[in-house]
Amino acid sequence: MAGLFGDKLRGFGLATSFVALASCASSGEIAEGGDTGSLCETESVTISTGFVGAGQHGCSVSADGPVLTVWPEASIAGPINPSPWYAFEADLHSSETVTLRLDYAGYWHRYQPWTSRDGGATWEKLPESSVTVEGEDHIASIALPRGPGSLLVAARPLTTPADMSAWSQLLAKRHDMEIVRYGESLDGRPFNALVAGSQDAGRLVIALTGQHPPEQSGLAAFKVFAEALMEDIPARVLADTRIVMLPMTNPDGRARGHWRHNNGGLDLNRDWLNQTQPATKAAAAFILEEAGERDTIAFMDFHSTHKTLVYTQPFEEDYADMGFPKALKRSLDRGIEPDPEWISGHNAEAGTSKNWALQTLDVAGLTIELADDAPADEIEKVGQLTASTLLNHLLEVQPVQSGE
Ligand SMILES: [Zn+2]
Repeated sequence: MAGLFGDKLRGFGLATSFVALASCASSGEIAEGGDTGSLCETESVTISTGFVGAGQHGCSVSADGPVLTVWPEASIAGPINPSPWYAFEADLHSSETVTLRLDYAGYWHRYQPWTSRDGGATWEKLPESSVTVEGEDHIASIALPRGPGSLLVAARPLTTPADMSAWSQLLAKRHDMEIVRYGESLDGRPFNALVAGSQDAGRLVIALTGQHPPEQSGLAAFKVFAEALMEDIPARVLADTRIVMLPMTNPDGRARGHWRHNNGGLDLNRDWLNQTQPATKAAAAFILEEAGERDTIAFMDFHSTHKTLVYTQPFEEDYADMGFPKALKRSLDRGIEPDPEWISGHNAEAGTSKNWALQTLDVAGLTIELADDAPADEIEKVGQLTASTLLNHLLEVQPVQSGE
């Protein structure tokens, strides 16, 4: 297959690099402690979760084959948004068909399985005919592709913190960006930012992603956006514009196969006002330091949900300058079929990044959501259009004086 991002991904072979890097980062990357994570075994298959990004599973062997429970995270802060992540390795002992069941208890099957035979380098989506959902969507029965051999099965192709770190290093190298370690997660993983533009710049652009681990299409659009922006942005714009990108805001949740949370049991995109977690505290502090006296022009947080849409503040009220959101809406309406919905609202209590951005940086926050199953060309278009619209906006709103 052409890879998650299709064959149109721009940027100096980053697409091929992604595939190559994914193979070393996702495969064989054994979870901490060297636990091989074998959960259960039948005559036909061994199920294990000893890799970074594996789901939180139990496994029992029924007369009809393995049953994997799909555990949600703790809901100490209220009900969890149902994003039931699963990822496990199935070592198939023979060529006979193996069927296993995912048991979601009180939650529901959402993601069609993807499989990889090469340790995470390339992925294929299982055909719908391989999955039967029953028990009011609480149980999904999956007929695995035939063995023998090892198969990774996951709700989405895996993207680990190591994958994003490798991608960041390539982008930084290509475009002379600085990688800044702005903090450390509860598990001790680094929070890294990509920074470009002059120290003396009067303007700031912020883009982030990865708060919610399973939201791969949003992360993919962020990558397209970042590559396109850095490829096309002229030096004279960088002379007056600081670019700050946070590509992996919840590395622990991603490594631990969480649905939604960090390792502190919270949805980070509800914690930006309180900042009780290192992830939000460090991100907010770093962004504020970068903001300084600068004028924040755009704040974009990339996610995924059931369909492609954008959340922002109301267009018609004077919360913030809506110039960029309006321009982006025009671009996406022209480029994406059907027109993405824009959900405008403002809740002063909401601990979302977009609300924090409005209250703290006086900028219209944008939560850009890609459909869970957005095709590669839609991901590509949203990323490209967001970059080109932003670039036009930066050129228009305040023509940069050329001192050269
Ligand atoms: Zn999200």
